Parts: sequence; structure tokens; C-alpha cells
Amino acid sequence: MIIAIEGIDGSGKTTQAFLAAKDFRAIQLKFPDYRTMPQIREFLEGRIHLHPKSLFLMYLADICQGISKIDNEHNLIILDRYIYSTVAYARSMDRDVAMDIIEKIALPVPDAVFWIDVGIDNAMTRKANHKEPDRNEKDVELLREVRSVYEIMFNKNFYAKQWFRIDGNRNIQQVYNEMKPMLENVIKGTQ
Ligand code: ADP
Repeated sequence: MIIAIEGIDGSGKTTQAFLAAKDFRAIQLKFPDYRTMPQIREFLEGRIHLHPKSLFLMYLADICQGISKIDNEHNLIILDRYIYSTVAYARSMDRDVAMDIIEKIALPVPDAVFWIDVGIDNAMTRKANHKEPDRNEKDVELLREVRSVYEIMFNKNFYAKQWFRIDGNRNIQQVYNEMKPMLENVIKGTQ
């Protein structure tokens, strides 16, 4: 089974993926994997320029590599970002085209997506307290746009059996307390 956790930078994906993976004895995978695609990190740190379409394809290639190694028949896999981030962050690309490409590539379809929705200010403050923000993390306009694309994908129930929107503006435990029973139900439903 595959569960994806999504949201803008600083929404709390890694934090919630860790809690869920611990409770449900799941395998946690995080995208992008900079070991597979070091150019993505170089881009985010402002060291190289990449054409938006190249960047989109690199994010996607990284996911194709990572996801091909997992056994989701016998394991619960929790993905910290998946193709939804690839679409949402594909700035200056037509997002309908991006969604079309994703559907045509036919990667595994998650059983559920948990979209942790937070205010931009909240997310930026959290990241800034933690580390020097990268190119995306300090780009308010991009984060606004990304959040609106998540909303579109949520409303379309794009590329997943079901989407859940979680209010991520609360503290870590409150967010997890909302997510945990939903996750339990998803797991029970497919057993
Ligand atoms: P993401 O993976 O979405 O970028 P992280 O889980 O890495 O977000 O969290 C970014 C920072 O915010 C971390 O320092 C983390 O401890 C903190 N954080 C995560 N969730 C919350 C929350 N609900 N309230 C306050 N801080 C949080």
C-alpha cells in the first residue's frame, strides 16, 4: 500500500511521515532523493540554472527510480512527496499538461494522499527557524501558486484513491491526531 504526504515546504510532511512510519511500521521514502538527482539540489541552492521542463523531468525521473525499488504489495510505504509535488512545483508549465504526462507515465497510484495544508507565513517561519531557506522556500509567490495547485488536485481527486486535507496550522501532535485515525481507516479498508 502507498500513502503520500504532500504540502508546501515547511508544512510538516517529514515530521508527520516519521510519526506515521513509526506507528504503522511503514517504510518511509522521501523525494527528491538528491543522491539520484544531485542537480536538483544544485538548482535549489541557486548554483545552476535549469529549464523548467528539465527540472520537471528530473523530479519525475527521480521518482521513477525510487518507486521502482519498493515492494508495495507486501509493505506499507509512506512517501514524503510524490508526483503531486512534481506537478505543483512545475512553475511556468501548463499544469494540465503536467498532470497528463503523469497519467501517461503510469506510476503506482497511492491509496491515499494526505495534503497538509498550512498558511504560507506559517510554513516560511518554520523553515527559516530551522535552516537557510532554499530557492523555493523563500519564494512567496511560488508557494502561493503551489498551494493553489494542491487545491486543484484535491478537488479533482487527482491520481489517488482518495485525498484528505489536513489543517497543518496546529501543533505537531494535533496534526497527527487528526491524520492517524484517517490513516488507520485507509489501512483497514484495503486489508
Ligand atoms: P516539510 O517536510 O513539509 O518541509 P518538516 O516536517 O521538515 O516540513 O518541518 C519543517 C520544520 O517545521 C521543522 O523544523 C519541524 O520541526 C517544524 N514543524 C513541523 N510541523 C510543525 C507544526 N505542526 N507546528 C510547528 N512546527 C512544525
